[in-house]
Amino acid sequence: EPHQLNYLFALGIQPWQSKQSTPTPCAQPTETLTTLCTSVAHCTACVLHKTRTQTVFGVGNQQADLMLIGEAPGFYEDQKGEPFVGRAGQLLNAMLQAIGLNRRTVYIANILKCRPPNNRDPLPEEVSQCTGFLTKQIALIQPKLLLALGRIAAHHLLNTQATLGQMRGKLHSYGTNNIPLVVTYHPAYLLRNPQDKKKAWQDLQLIHRSLIKKELTK
Ligand code: SF4
Repeated sequence: EPHQLNYLFALGIQPWQSKQSTPTPCAQPTETLTTLCTSVAHCTACVLHKTRTQTVFGVGNQQADLMLIGEAPGFYEDQKGEPFVGRAGQLLNAMLQAIGLNRRTVYIANILKCRPPNNRDPLPEEVSQCTGFLTKQIALIQPKLLLALGRIAAHHLLNTQATLGQMRGKLHSYGTNNIPLVVTYHPAYLLRNPQDKKKAWQDLQLIHRSLIKKELTK
C-alpha cells in the first residue's frame, strides 16, 4: 500500500517483500569473505545442512566499525539467505537508524549459518561445529566493536552462562584482540517484550558512545 510504504521509508524501515528473488548466496564485499562464504555454502559438518534452504553467511560492510552477531537464521532468513530480515530485521534496522547507522555501514552475521528446524535453540555440537566460520569472519572484518544480540550469541562469544540482565549495560572484551563487546536483547525478543525496548535504547547509546570514543582515540 503506497501510503504505508512511504510511512515505513520515512521511519527508515525497509519493508520486507516476500516475492523478491533469492540473491546470489556469496555476493560478499571482498574475495576472502566470498571464499569463506563459499565454504559455508558447501558445509555439511552438522545435521542442520539437511534441513536448510540455504546458508546465511552475513551481510554488510567489510570496513564496518560495528559487527552485530545474532543467534541463527530463522524462517525468512533461511528463505532469503540474509540475516535479520522479516519483522525482527525491520526492528533491527530501526535500532541501527536510531544511532545513525544502517545495514550498509555495519556487518551482520549469526553464530550458526543454517536454520535450526522450527527455530529451536542451537545444540552445543552445532555451535561448536559452526563457530570456526564466525571466528574467521570476525578476523576478516576486524570490527572496533561487537554487538551480541541475545542470550545465545552472548553466551558463546563471552563463554559464560550469565543472564542477559547481568551481561547488558557494560563493555566486555572478546578474543585475543580484546575487541570491546556490548550485549543487548535480540530484536525478536523485543517484539515479544516491548517493555524492554527502553533498556535496549540504553544499550544502543552505550554502543554509540563507545564508537565515538574509538573514533577519537584512533
Ligand atoms: Fe555447517 Fe554451520 Fe551449517 Fe552446521 S550450521 S552445516 S556447521 S554451516
